[in-house]
Amino acid sequence: MRKPTRRSSLVKKGSGGRTTAVLLAKQELVLGHGGGVDAFDRLPDDLVLAVLAGVAACAAGPADLAAAALTCRRFRELAAHPAVLSRASAAAVSLRAGRWSEAAHQFLRRCAAAGSLHACYFLGMVRFYCLGSRATGAALLARAASGGHAAALYALAVLQFNGSGGGKADKDPRAGVALCARAAWLGHVPALRELGHCLQDGYGARRDAAAGRHLLLHAAARELVAISSARCRRGGRRAEDGDDAASRFMVEWWALSAAKKSAAATGEGDGGNDAAELRLCSQAPCGRRETRRHEFRRCSACGSASYCSRACQALDWKRAHRGQCGAAAARWLAAGDAY
Ligand SMILES: [Zn+2]
Ligand SMILES: [Zn+2]
Repeated sequence: MRKPTRRSSLVKKGSGGRTTAVLLAKQELVLGHGGGVDAFDRLPDDLVLAVLAGVAACAAGPADLAAAALTCRRFRELAAHPAVLSRASAAAVSLRAGRWSEAAHQFLRRCAAAGSLHACYFLGMVRFYCLGSRATGAALLARAASGGHAAALYALAVLQFNGSGGGKADKDPRAGVALCARAAWLGHVPALRELGHCLQDGYGARRDAAAGRHLLLHAAARELVAISSARCRRGGRRAEDGDDAASRFMVEWWALSAAKKSAAATGEGDGGNDAAELRLCSQAPCGRRETRRHEFRRCSACGSASYCSRACQALDWKRAHRGQCGAAAARWLAAGDAY
């Protein structure tokens, strides 16, 4: 009875119920055959592929698919099949920046090539913002968006509002609003919020304060529903959380690269590259960074906070900046007789 203990420890690693069920089923089949013949070996590839595709679609994290692939060599080969990778859930491709590696990049590339819109979106964001591969990043985002991926539509909207990856003249508020409207129609809350602010401000669309306010209320209500339903599902992350996973990745990525930079700063001053001048969106959980200097909008009161979007600015004002901005202004007034 050595096998059962080893296998059950593997089973515990998978957090997704579906993965655990598959592994348990395999364990039972193996144990049921006293001679150690793996009954799974007799299953046709098509069936195993269908099961693994189900695991990929329900995975609660990259570890679930990895756990299934670790089961045996045949599983490992079949788990890398496009029919499985194309079904990868948002959570299955939600990697952490601390675990970024060439193998991780390759995994996302294969999922994206197999047609996973979640992978196209996640890799698109990583390429565009973190790796600086603007063209391939934007192309991946466009592929996800054209497949109806709401977060990718919203991501493209933010690129249009800022002219990201290009110059100031590349800003296209109308295109941004159109993309936001599509994402909002698909139920994407940040897009709904952004659209509300655009209508209130008359940015990229005709000003309509009442409609803007209506959309903002709608966004707030949807956000409350999302928060309460996430609380009900204790432990398990929802598939939609993959939208936030790209932001989480970027936040972690910039924190890691800042730590690396400050460790390296003891050496020679590294040539004043303008990456140091590029600002992160001050709405901390957003994770977007400017692609050129002065790309993001600044807080008009203090000038020290910068935002990728109106929605990020409004959120940060509510959550943190209201207090900080006042304090900054007071400090400024106290520090100098301004004139
Ligand atoms: Zn401010
Ligand atoms: Zn932002």
